[in-house]
Amino acid sequence: MTVIKQLDTRLANQIAAGEVVERPASIVKELVENAVDAGATQVDVEIERGGIKRIVVKDNGSGMAKEDLPLAVSRHATSKIDNLEDLEAIASLGFRGEALASISSVSRLLIKSATDHGGQAHSVYCEGRDMAPQVQPCSHTKGTHMDVKELFYNTPARRKFLRTENTEFKHIDDVIKRMALSFFGVGFSLSHNGRSVYQLPPAQTEKQKLHRVGKICGQAFAEQSIPVEFSRDGLTMWGWMALPTFSRSQADLQYFFVNGRAVKDKVVNHAVKKAYQDVLYHGRYPAYVLFLDIDPKQVDVNVHPTKHEIRFREQRQVHGFIFHVLHQAIRDVRPEKPTTQSESMVEPFSSSNSSAQAPVQSELSASSEDGSSFHWAHQGGPQRYAQAQAQAQVQERMQQYGALIDESALPQSILSSVASFGQLGASQTMAAGAGDSEFSKPLGQALAQLQGIYILAQNAQGLVIVDMHAAHERIMYERLKSAFDQQSLAKQPLLVPQTLALSASEADCAEHVAKMLADYGLVYERLAEEAIVIREVPALLKQANAEQLFRDVLSDVMTHGESARIEVMRNELFSTMACHGAVRANRQLSLAEMNALLRDMEETERSGQCNHGRPTWTQLSLKQLDSLFMRGQ
Ligand code: ADP
Ligand code: MG
Repeated sequence: MTVIKQLDTRLANQIAAGEVVERPASIVKELVENAVDAGATQVDVEIERGGIKRIVVKDNGSGMAKEDLPLAVSRHATSKIDNLEDLEAIASLGFRGEALASISSVSRLLIKSATDHGGQAHSVYCEGRDMAPQVQPCSHTKGTHMDVKELFYNTPARRKFLRTENTEFKHIDDVIKRMALSFFGVGFSLSHNGRSVYQLPPAQTEKQKLHRVGKICGQAFAEQSIPVEFSRDGLTMWGWMALPTFSRSQADLQYFFVNGRAVKDKVVNHAVKKAYQDVLYHGRYPAYVLFLDIDPKQVDVNVHPTKHEIRFREQRQVHGFIFHVLHQAIRDVRPEKPTTQSESMVEPFSSSNSSAQAPVQSELSASSEDGSSFHWAHQGGPQRYAQAQAQAQVQERMQQYGALIDESALPQSILSSVASFGQLGASQTMAAGAGDSEFSKPLGQALAQLQGIYILAQNAQGLVIVDMHAAHERIMYERLKSAFDQQSLAKQPLLVPQTLALSASEADCAEHVAKMLADYGLVYERLAEEAIVIREVPALLKQANAEQLFRDVLSDVMTHGESARIEVMRNELFSTMACHGAVRANRQLSLAEMNALLRDMEETERSGQCNHGRPTWTQLSLKQLDSLFMRGQ
């Protein structure tokens, strides 16, 4: 008597279902993928009780003919691949031919399908241990109707692993969101317990796509993200990435699609993280919706039954590409005229749609190496600005204000300030300006310093508020890094070398890394067991307190361990240094200095946030100001 027996079909399928059907959401994923593979332009999903009771997915795709229906529900039967070559270059979402077999082995699955509108429609249902398919004529329009009832009715042990209806529905919702993001051309609707959750019409234009992104990822993401699009060597990446100031406390707004398939991949994660590394506060997560299109031969999607995982054949190339595209996009974010402005809230950023494509403007000028904290605006900087329009806007506004003001009722001081406001806007002149119109620049024209912390400036949109220290810190940081990279980090000897008392172990460490820190512009020697003397500092930081600077840098080195590689520490050291070099609160700045800082911000990479990812400036539009005073309401 043999001990080895052939398993019956249902049991074999139930075993396979262990991998494919984890929960109701896995079924929804498989069914919606099939609908998309069938060329549907509309997919409607109806869920009852978290999908545990019922899942219905209707599509208007190609449909299935009578003869194909029994095959659809049998395992290892697929219309999507034929041979090994096909498997190595998969263009469809499905290919394993086991989803429907698995689903129907652990639920009551009824399929209705028709391949054209007027013709015959058929239904199929599986019965018994051998899952004998029962095919019958029925009525249905072109497309397919999948009806899954009572999941795990025949596998009670698995049923126990299901969570609450709400949790299960949340997973389904996530699946639909991912599908809706990767297939903009397909309309989706989702309902739960008879109530519509959302309807997403097909999105063709850029605007419609962004609208869909906003519906799925939230309006704030849509407004505070930049579009990305770049191709090289057969790789294309496009989508939207949030500005670093729109970071999250969880990694919950991260969508990455490879050839339309939502994937979780270490190579991708690492590349994205690295691109944002320098601009995100520790413990914050970036948000993005990104699509990588790559030759299907270059990815192995047959790594796991749920197909969430993939493997790139050229991991390094893909990693480098993703990093490069995102890094570049973040680097090119500059203050710019807002294109869409949310009026309900103060936003730290303009939601410019073109900044990602804006060419990199002039790099550091040689004059910035002279060590002065501030220098004059670079002439001929970015002029992406409709100057005339801005002027007209302000003039118009001033006329309105003029009409509203009964001059006799106002004190003289206010009248003169209003008059000068009008004059500044209209004549585009500025006493402290470089003769050029500061007003028409993205960050506008400095007006005053507030509490020794903020710079107030006006531009055509309204009021700009800049965190002086944070902004300057970012500028210093970028300059230090760039000078270091170009091996032109100038040193400045201290007039009076500064002696410092340290503990013996600190002094040991300092001595050990002296050579490395000399490359960073910090030159010192050990004087005694417990003392060193600082002789030179980076020229950019000549105004900083050398002792404090040195102590903080040393403490960075000590936390990393002296042996850490330079690149690991580099950004941190520069960040520490920049903080010391940046203008301190309460330092009185002249208007010229303030304007110079604003111009530097416009020119500096990643200047929208400080090294810790906090915003460096914000804009209050005239509309927002108006609403503060209930003007026009
Ligand atoms: P796979 O998608 O891996 O091929 P499935 O078990 O999901 O395997 O589906 C089996 C086959 O049934 C598919 O290859 C396809 O031919 C057919 N099919 C499934 N769903 C649909 C649908 N909604 N519309 C048209 N054909 C479908
Ligand atoms: Mg499938």
